[in-house]
Amino acid sequence: MENPAIIIIDMLNDFVTGKLEVERTKYIIPNLKKLIAAARKNNVPVIYSNDAHYPQDMEVVNKWGKHAIKGTKGAEVIPELKPATKDYIVEKRTYSGFYETGLDPLLRSLYKGEGAKTVVLSGLHTHMCVRHTAADAFFRGYRIIVAKDGVEAFTREDHEQGLKYLENVYNAKIMTIDEIAKELG
Ligand code: ZN
Repeated sequence: MENPAIIIIDMLNDFVTGKLEVERTKYIIPNLKKLIAAARKNNVPVIYSNDAHYPQDMEVVNKWGKHAIKGTKGAEVIPELKPATKDYIVEKRTYSGFYETGLDPLLRSLYKGEGAKTVVLSGLHTHMCVRHTAADAFFRGYRIIVAKDGVEAFTREDHEQGLKYLENVYNAKIMTIDEIAKELG
């Protein structure tokens, strides 16, 4: 895996236990813990891509209602996956982690300026924020790996269709967290 960066998407209180609770998230929390630990141990950058909405954001007003409002408890990463000091947090205001954020320049600055080449996507939701982040990563030339036991969605159907789409359209490599952890070490 060439110059990997781990991206943890929207593992925030509002999506896990709050307003837009995804019951199925409980299945991936222990796996994500493992992934983050393996990355930190091997000095692989860990980036949290977090919704941090203004109340007037399109997504809030026109689609989901109030969620992950910047500065609130709901917009914080869940306690189980608390970011460490050396991790990166990149706030976003819609589905894609790249859309008008500092994610791309951050990725290009990693590995002593060589840049990250592979993004390992995890978090919520397989068919929405993961999918749109994957699209933008693909457009920018990153190789994409999706942690299949590290992403989830509201329903199993959304999740499974999401995985298939990522594989078919963005040539994402679908791997388990154990497989990814092995490659990081
Ligand atoms: Zn949102």
